[in-house]
Amino acid sequence: MLPSSNDPSRVLCLSGHDPVGGAGIHADIESCAALGAHAFTVITANTVQDSRNVQRVTPVAPLLIAAQVDALLADCRIDAIKIGLLGDAAQVAVLVEVIRRNPVPVVLDPVLRAGGGRALVGAQLLLAMEALLPLTTVITPNAAEARVLAPQARTLDECAAALLAQGCRNVLVTGGDEPGDEVVNTWHSAGDAPHAYRWPRIEGGFHGAGCTLASAIAALLAQGHPLATALERAQQWTHRSLRDARALGQGRKIPLRRA
Ligand code: PLP
Repeated sequence: MLPSSNDPSRVLCLSGHDPVGGAGIHADIESCAALGAHAFTVITANTVQDSRNVQRVTPVAPLLIAAQVDALLADCRIDAIKIGLLGDAAQVAVLVEVIRRNPVPVVLDPVLRAGGGRALVGAQLLLAMEALLPLTTVITPNAAEARVLAPQARTLDECAAALLAQGCRNVLVTGGDEPGDEVVNTWHSAGDAPHAYRWPRIEGGFHGAGCTLASAIAALLAQGHPLATALERAQQWTHRSLRDARALGQGRKIPLRRA
């Protein structure tokens, strides 16, 4: 069914709260709204951070997450699921159950490290996240995250191959954190040749670029677009959001996510 303004496509977003509003739940709500979808939001972790770096991550109790999701799902249809920062390993079992009960597209942004450098995920959670990989439609690691998820791999292509071997159906490795005048994002899927998207690099650092892209992909998948269209359009729109980003603090710029 085509979405209408009275019956928008809906994305269940499970992400952290970033008080600065660059990343996490803010990015989910703004991206979905800008692209015409509605975000249902469940917070996985509270954070203490500014536009420069994250100081603290406090997980939300898995039972509270489960109760919030159950209440939502008893009431509302969902068309896609977007997962961002996770608080701890115990949350993964809740998410696995949610995905199993709701066969809709799933976008996983494996948030492992803040752009400011702080590690956001410990070894136990990293291991637990493996259970999510085969349940996703697409995962969107940046280059550094791809290397953490596939530590044996020597190149980014090998990282993506290792993730496909772990059950991911599609991997979009983003290259915003790599050097160069161009940002190269590469879509890998089982059985197909990798597809590289090249974008002129926009000067400056951004806080929440990865969250913005992943939520945009989820919003477009929720609307029924094929993955190739969702990836292309979400990147175009994210590029524009970064071009228009504003410096609200002393660190990295906050994307301006508008329709
Ligand atoms: N805080 C939260 C809640 C996030 O979800 C993320 C990234 O997804 C970050 C912080 C780090 O964002 P960035 O790497 O853009 O600084």
